[in-house]
Amino acid sequence: MEIEDVEAVPIRRELDGRFANAQKWIGSREYCLVRVTAADGTVGWGECWGPVAGNREVIEEYVAPWLRGREVEGVEQVHDDLRFALRSSYHSYLPVSALSGVDIALWDLYGKRLGVPAAELLGGRRREAVPAYATGHFWPDVDSFEAVRESVVEEAVGHVEAGFGALKNKIGMTRHPEFPYGWEEDVELVRAIREAVGDDVLLATDANHAYDRATAERVGHALADFDVHFFEEPIEPRRLDGYVDLNAAIEVPVAGGECWAFEGGFEEVVRRGGVAYAQPDVTSAGGLTATRRIAALAAAHNVQCLPHVFGSAVALAASLQALAAIPGDPMLEFDRTPNPIRDELAVDPVELDGTSVPIPDRPGIGVEIDPDVLAEFRAD
Ligand SMILES: [Mg+2]
Repeated sequence: MEIEDVEAVPIRRELDGRFANAQKWIGSREYCLVRVTAADGTVGWGECWGPVAGNREVIEEYVAPWLRGREVEGVEQVHDDLRFALRSSYHSYLPVSALSGVDIALWDLYGKRLGVPAAELLGGRRREAVPAYATGHFWPDVDSFEAVRESVVEEAVGHVEAGFGALKNKIGMTRHPEFPYGWEEDVELVRAIREAVGDDVLLATDANHAYDRATAERVGHALADFDVHFFEEPIEPRRLDGYVDLNAAIEVPVAGGECWAFEGGFEEVVRRGGVAYAQPDVTSAGGLTATRRIAALAAAHNVQCLPHVFGSAVALAASLQALAAIPGDPMLEFDRTPNPIRDELAVDPVELDGTSVPIPDRPGIGVEIDPDVLAEFRAD
């Protein structure tokens, strides 16, 4: 079945308030979705990471003309050929987020064509549900450390009351230009959450590469007192030697990967022991094709793949299909920050059931987009 049309679909929604991590304030949510239509009218959906404009231009100007007329059934060949074509066209810069969105849409379309969930085509469904951890505990727009601490503790308690058995909070305030706090306050956030939720809740922490090498080691040693499950992105993603040294130097396992792409982006750091958990994002690491390959690479080095998830309902659905097929004991990163596009775009929103999230077994990536909501969110 030939691919007939490829569209970039920009969507955006302002939030009522704003919240911060080590990198920035977040006051809106915006995504570039990808819609691929086959000759019989079947539609596949995908999502690209990052700012909309660049993804949109690559998809509309380059990928769409290239992809039209190709066969839906050749997903992995298309992925590899497109990767090659994009690298040749853009030279040293590979627009990997655009490729990721297209790859996800093709798996969605292929699954729908065959009437099976994408996970069945990605190695098979190993599980019907996946344990979820609540990502959140960003920093509110308040003017004292005590108020930040109170907010994140209250949020953590709320997640546990909602059923979550696992949480991840944000640290790295020292890096944010508007937060006059240091790494000691970061550790205090983790201590306060641990004290509030007790010892039975799995607690991980994420610095969004805020620290220099020495500070990361200080923080890592301090986190060991609070049974932290993993310490995510302690330092800049490009510093692979630092990841290797740090993971050996501290007791808390180091995690990372949301800024790395393709098998090649993970190969060295996984092989050298730089991370104990590998975290590709389906919207930025090369789609479902690359995520499956990265998970296999990680498994070969005894490293658990724990995909990074921080997108709309489309990214969440695609990530669940990846998680169904990932070996070992993966968890879903279930973003709980305010996001109407994540919550409202799908006809059947993903929800927690106990401490886990059921994995849809509908064809493709299993998400049905509400056309009225999509029209409301469209930003073009
Ligand atoms: Mg992260």
